Amino acid sequence: MTRQVDVLVIGGGQAGLAAGFYLRRAKADFVILDAHERPSGAWQHMWESLRLFSPGPFSSLPGRMMPGGGYPSAADTVAYLAEYEQRYELPIIRPLTVRAVHKGASRLIVETDQDDWEARIVVSATGTWTCPYVPYYPGVRDFRGEHLHTVDYRRPEAFRGRHVLVVGGGNSAAQILAELSTVTQTTWVTQRPPRLLPDDIDGRALFDLATRRHRAAQAGRSDDGIGGLGDIVAIPSVREARDRGVLKAEPMFTRITPTGVAWADGSELACDVILWCTGFRPALSHLAPLRLRGPDGLIPTDGTRATGEPRLYLLGYGDWTGPASATLIGAGRTARHMVAEITAQLRR
Ligand code: FAD
Repeated sequence: MTRQVDVLVIGGGQAGLAAGFYLRRAKADFVILDAHERPSGAWQHMWESLRLFSPGPFSSLPGRMMPGGGYPSAADTVAYLAEYEQRYELPIIRPLTVRAVHKGASRLIVETDQDDWEARIVVSATGTWTCPYVPYYPGVRDFRGEHLHTVDYRRPEAFRGRHVLVVGGGNSAAQILAELSTVTQTTWVTQRPPRLLPDDIDGRALFDLATRRHRAAQAGRSDDGIGGLGDIVAIPSVREARDRGVLKAEPMFTRITPTGVAWADGSELACDVILWCTGFRPALSHLAPLRLRGPDGLIPTDGTRATGEPRLYLLGYGDWTGPASATLIGAGRTARHMVAEITAQLRR
């Protein structure tokens, strides 16, 4: 059966919910399709001790503040998002996977593992969690230990007694390393020296920085002069690890050996686990039939609207679709502009 709707949102994580909030307010005819069985998108998979890098009021979607003080946990965020979609009665169908989006004459055709849909506008908000990124290093297949990625990490106990090499210079690596180092031997390797934010600065400053960079880029200015603040928020566990002296990083190795890793100067290190905290790529395979990807693998956009397909919008994913649009606060602000554009387009 083929169903029709004005606006079809793919993905019911925070970005999809933010879109839903503004679409509901605009009284649009819309639906949200989500592959997960439960609410909250990627948050339900994150490690147990994860803390957001901004306090609740600065990690909130439009309309409803994240409750509680301090830095919320992943479980707080799951509960918040589940409550949010109920509160605003968002029309979410799950679990349902979108397989492909095709061009139709006047509408986009959305093929799913259940019904198919025809939509005047499609918003893709599928996040990045399903596309973990691991860079290639020679010897990767020879390693006799275990390769894991951030997506595989839940809690430290399973690693007791194993030497874990944590790769990556961001918040995920720093938070996981801080916790792992309390139960086992760890080594940290990063491409460039890790940059910790001062103790009194958190994710709010990163959001402001992303906004200024985005505005500079839109105005055709380079972001020179805006400067970098550092990447890693010194939440309490990270501060404690820094004070214990375990947040010291080695430079990146050049190859992987059967027992560990090796550097260009010939030095080697044995380890049992290589834990790649090396980020994610946007989950865009369902849009492949539209043939919109540029050489960098991203879909070029003007704001959130795909430049090669005016009926398609992209929300979340990263700064390329809006300042800090992969964060809770950034997704909401970007969604507001996006829905204003969509409603104007629907009226035309
Ligand atoms: P997701 O949460 O991944 O949601 C996408 C949804 O789309 C999922 O439910 C998925 O099932 C669905 N989907 C995907 N493909 C399909 C398909 N083909 N068909 C149907 N449905 C589909 N942000 C902050 O604001 N503060 C933080 O402190 C913070 N910490 C972070 C720590 C880590 C380790 C990570 C990885 C991210 C963190 N973020 C943080 C960033 C951000 O909040 C998350 O990445 C967020 O989950 C992104 O939301 P999203 O809605 O874009 O994607």
